[in-house]
Amino acid sequence: MSDFLRKPPNFYAGGLNRAAHLRKDEAWLAERLNDGSSLIVPVWRGNNLVASIEGEEPRAVFLAPDAIATAINEAILLGMDEERAIFACDLSEIETPQEAVQPAVPAQFVDLRRVGPLLPRQEGSLLAFARGIAYWHSRHRYCGMCGAPTKPEEAGHVRRCTNPDCNAPHFPRTDPAVIMLVHDGDRCLLGRQAAWPPAMHSTLAGFVEPGESLEEAVAREVYEETKVTVEDVTYHSSQPWPFPASLMLGFHARATTSAIEVDHSELEDARWYEREWLLAHQDDEHFRLPRRDSIARRLLEDWLGR
Ligand SMILES: [Zn+2]
Repeated sequence: MSDFLRKPPNFYAGGLNRAAHLRKDEAWLAERLNDGSSLIVPVWRGNNLVASIEGEEPRAVFLAPDAIATAINEAILLGMDEERAIFACDLSEIETPQEAVQPAVPAQFVDLRRVGPLLPRQEGSLLAFARGIAYWHSRHRYCGMCGAPTKPEEAGHVRRCTNPDCNAPHFPRTDPAVIMLVHDGDRCLLGRQAAWPPAMHSTLAGFVEPGESLEEAVAREVYEETKVTVEDVTYHSSQPWPFPASLMLGFHARATTSAIEVDHSELEDARWYEREWLLAHQDDEHFRLPRRDSIARRLLEDWLGR
């Protein structure tokens, strides 16, 4: 991939060749789905298949096309690994999928958030893509315009309404969210939500609203959650975050006020933290940094200069 990507890419981003030009080639797709060297990334009720071998780090488990024969007509082309096609397949309708697909190694369907930071980066990206697009399919089985069932087209990258008078195409969507490291030079603003793991603190974040620029969304969310105002909103990097359907757009922003008034409907707490304190602190039961696979952690680590 080219140099315009920020290096290294954030977790769950990665250089897959998506081969979009092949999505409409029905003959080629049928051939790849009959080719034993093609790989299937199975998804089951939002979970991914991961090897659970004692004493080893988790690894993604791929299947051969013949393992999912019953579900193959809804396989989704993710892309190409050199000459090999990679598909996702949602097995949610099967009650006991491990028994149905019989993986070659002991494996379980698990929430990617449990194992993401431990997986090889490329595997994490593939599983995230598979999970994200399977989620979109599961939520768009009916047309939003006329209510008729939809069916997949273009190797799972479109769903089209089956009502001939409507025929509306529906495209995979991802919801933009801004996430921002707010600082005043020596201190940064971190908060925590009550639902987060104990002691975890992170940057502020929120969804972009219709009719709003990203910079406006950053300033609005920071103000709504803490009453701090910001300027110099600068883009940092982005991260696919299919939990369930977000694209995180990361920013740094400079605070122009320092008094904090926490909106307790959104946050349990928000405070200023000195750079020196953060650099010296080790995670403990009172304060932990955000998870290692999150862009929040990257925004913070880059601001800390480590
Ligand atoms: Zn319709």
